[in-house]
Amino acid sequence: MSWRDSLTSIPGTVAQLINESASTLMHVSSSLGSAVGSSGSETGGSEESGPQGGEYRALPIPASLVREQWRLIFTSDANSQDLQAAIAHCRDLVLLSEELSEERRWLVRHLVDLRYSLQELEEAQEQQSDMVVMNAIRAVVGHHFVPHHPHHGKRSRLQAAARRNYCDHCTTIIWSVVQSSYVCSDCGFLVHQKCIDGVKRVCAHVLVSERQHPISEICPEIGLAAQGYKCAECGTMLNIKNTWIEPRLCDYSGLYYCPRCNWNDSNFIPARIIHNWDFSPRRVSRTALQEIRLFLNKPLIRLEEDNPKLFVFVEKLSAVKKLRQNLVHMRHYLAACRMASELKLVDQQLGGRRHLAQSNEFYSLWDLSQVESGALTEFLQAVFKEFNNHIRSCPMCLAQAYICEICSNDEVIFPFDDGCIKCDQCNSIFHRVCLTRKNMICPKCVRIQERRLQLDRLKSSENDDDDEVSTDDDVAAAE
Ligand SMILES: [Zn+2]
Ligand SMILES: [Zn+2]
Ligand SMILES: [Zn+2]
Ligand SMILES: [Zn+2]
Ligand SMILES: [Zn+2]
Ligand SMILES: [Zn+2]
Repeated sequence: MSWRDSLTSIPGTVAQLINESASTLMHVSSSLGSAVGSSGSETGGSEESGPQGGEYRALPIPASLVREQWRLIFTSDANSQDLQAAIAHCRDLVLLSEELSEERRWLVRHLVDLRYSLQELEEAQEQQSDMVVMNAIRAVVGHHFVPHHPHHGKRSRLQAAARRNYCDHCTTIIWSVVQSSYVCSDCGFLVHQKCIDGVKRVCAHVLVSERQHPISEICPEIGLAAQGYKCAECGTMLNIKNTWIEPRLCDYSGLYYCPRCNWNDSNFIPARIIHNWDFSPRRVSRTALQEIRLFLNKPLIRLEEDNPKLFVFVEKLSAVKKLRQNLVHMRHYLAACRMASELKLVDQQLGGRRHLAQSNEFYSLWDLSQVESGALTEFLQAVFKEFNNHIRSCPMCLAQAYICEICSNDEVIFPFDDGCIKCDQCNSIFHRVCLTRKNMICPKCVRIQERRLQLDRLKSSENDDDDEVSTDDDVAAAE
């Protein structure tokens, strides 16, 4: 008996409703979703919608049903009893719900989804031979596939609700109870064991190493005709006439893909951040999603060089730049300090993000999204505090401190102190107020200048009988 037949046991209007949504859903899932899908609203977040990520999945669960969620939502590790129980419960709720209400609409669609999934699972179960012991690493088009063992522990159902794993090759769900699967240890590509030999998409890790930098033009679209009306990845014809294969534009590569290669995932686009400081999520292909994720933590973006105006317009950015500049000064102290290196202070504070204190030039995509959310400022402030605590209490670091020669006050000052300023010419440090009193003219540079003039005068008077030449080195040595 197919799931459609079993609908007849449900009262008239409901059955009709279910049949209507069923045909919508069948249409949606057969074309893999025309999808207005949900868009990740979180800054820097990316959202995987799953291959059927279309209208259905975009429908949020009605608030009144949230309590029932754990009995209704299934995950990749469900077995057929789980699904049957969910179906029974969902059906009861449909009958209890008010006609034409939001709940009924959601429940009916969900019921269709559940039945469709049960059917899929049962089919997978029939081909159980699929469940074989695997342990070897398999290399296919650049991927390094290792056996995937989804977590079976007792997670909270709510947490697990998002965890349905789909095969990156055939786009159907991976029923982990009856199907074996592999995951690429480099790019996260997930695939049924039975699909592994058919994989065509080159590993995103390979693409990233070839490309070196994220695509820097905003959605460099070439158009369907230039693509020969073929999916940019698998070559499926996307010809619009007489077929229902929907071309899906990837906002990252500017290329069109078929619904199997573009699941309407959303992610921010590196080029849009760099050019427009725009973090809004856009639709991207699977391969783009995997590629952007691999670029995420790499400090590759010279933001100020690419777009200097941003530092004028985006206040958070100029704050981060200032903080990083200070950390760079501090790192010079810590690098020279034996105690700080014994404590591994820099590593301990910055971990894998050492680039943040190496210069203030390079940013990773993750850094930029954290600038926008404010998290990076907080992080850098905390690091600043730790470094500052060390330097001000460490005899070795204090020995490298400065004294403002304008006010000759005993207070030690550092180039990273608020209210202090460094002379770009001679690297001396002064209180900002003190230097302002001197009209921003550095007394040390004035001294150097005077001495140079003196030497020049001496030189010209001696020049007739002596060829001795004075150089800038003499001046510096005199200091
Ligand atoms: Zn891979
Ligand atoms: Zn598959
Ligand atoms: Zn394709
Ligand atoms: Zn120290
Ligand atoms: Zn001073
Ligand atoms: Zn100076």
